Amino acid sequence: MPSAPAPIVVLGAGIIGLTTAVRLLESAPVRKGKIPVHVIADHLPNDPLDARYASTIAGAHHLSFADDSDTRQSKADRRSEPAFEVMYDEWRKEGEKTGLMLLKQTEFYVGTKEHLKIYEQHPDFIINSVGDMKLSFPADHSIAFTSLTMTPLTYLNRLLARISSLGGRIHRAHLPSLSHLSHTGITSLIGSAPSTVIVCTGLGSISLGGVEDTTVYPTRGQVVKVRAPWVRNGFTRQLGSLDGGEGGERTYVIPRPDGEVILGGTREEGDWYPYPREETSRDILRRALEICPDLQPAHQVAPALAVSGPPSPEKVDEMKTGEEGALDGMVVTHLVGFRPSRKDGVRLERGPEVKLETGERVKVVYNYGHGGAGWQCCWGYAESAVDLVLADLPAQAKL
Ligand SMILES: Cc1cc2nc3c(=O)[nH]c(=O)nc-3n(C[C@H](O)[C@H](O)[C@H](O)COP(=O)(O)OP(=O)(O)OC[C@H]3O[C@@H](n4cnc5c(N)ncnc54)[C@H](O)[C@@H]3O)c2cc1C
Repeated sequence: MPSAPAPIVVLGAGIIGLTTAVRLLESAPVRKGKIPVHVIADHLPNDPLDARYASTIAGAHHLSFADDSDTRQSKADRRSEPAFEVMYDEWRKEGEKTGLMLLKQTEFYVGTKEHLKIYEQHPDFIINSVGDMKLSFPADHSIAFTSLTMTPLTYLNRLLARISSLGGRIHRAHLPSLSHLSHTGITSLIGSAPSTVIVCTGLGSISLGGVEDTTVYPTRGQVVKVRAPWVRNGFTRQLGSLDGGEGGERTYVIPRPDGEVILGGTREEGDWYPYPREETSRDILRRALEICPDLQPAHQVAPALAVSGPPSPEKVDEMKTGEEGALDGMVVTHLVGFRPSRKDGVRLERGPEVKLETGERVKVVYNYGHGGAGWQCCWGYAESAVDLVLADLPAQAKL
């Protein structure tokens, strides 16, 4: 009787690990070959929030952080095109219960009249005339287009359900080292030593034995979650460097289908401080209100009940400007997360086989280091990682 095929392990249950597991389970060779797929992770989506588990803290919006001249990241963004298509299709079929929201996204630029060319591929792209926009802050350029935002917990839970429905298994375990995959603590969960492991460990790649990637580092992000269901459009303002995400100051307003809105943000490289800083929160609230005055509840900016006629237009403008503390009553929570950044960008490759503690060898594919763009790139990278795994399967598994 032929022996059961050895399992494939996806290590990590962030947006990268879970989308990779779904793509793997959907692939014909895995389905036809009945190859067991197991996800193993320290953190799972419904755990209490932890800054080291970036996927649950993210905004998240589908926006590129790539400088047009940055071919490495631009390539990654081409890989992200399927992500937009996949998510747009999910939204179109099932609406906002997917955790996805289709919205008009407006971007403001200060200090440059250029935008990232990649945005021109989004639906409904236009260049705004900043002079006509009556902004309360200086801006040199503005564009708008249709984009998507994601509610991480909802979307990650849908991926968990999809994995289970496709026959995949999910386990909570810490793996100290890749060679540990044949340890009884792991094989008791997955049946036998795996043939292949796909490493989707984000920041965990720094300390995971056999990987120990010292070029991985945290880019700290602090955000404020507010409740403002009337805000249904997204805004960002980029000051300085257009490579965007990584340089200059970036302010963003990311509405979610459930009425919560994420206000951000910061990008603090190498900063491991896991708690919110009060002065940063105040600064975020001030900046967010500047680019999106509609955050302030209508009743706060409405003219007081008139006893002596309507207020002058100047008075109304003054009321709309927003004062410090204007959003305090809407704050739900303050969050901090560490984006898993990597000096040379995403590591997506096959590595040399690793010898397990019991002597067998395991094939290794890496898919980590997505920095600030894991959500928007997840499906494209998942597809590429799965291609690498499938190319290496024994020929009979592909029949
Ligand atoms: C404030 C903030 C805002 C962001 N906004 C956006 C946005 O708008 N758009 C966007 O695209 N991206 C955004 N990001 C970035 C995005 O969140 C990350 O790129 C993405 O979450 C990375 O996913 P991941 O699966 O690689 O890592 P993670 O989500 O960190 O998951 C890593 C997984 O690996 C597991 N793991 C690690 N080591 C081990 C081990 N040794 N053994 C077992 N398990 C292990 C962990 O437990 C976890 O399950 C944002 C991030 C932050 C912090």
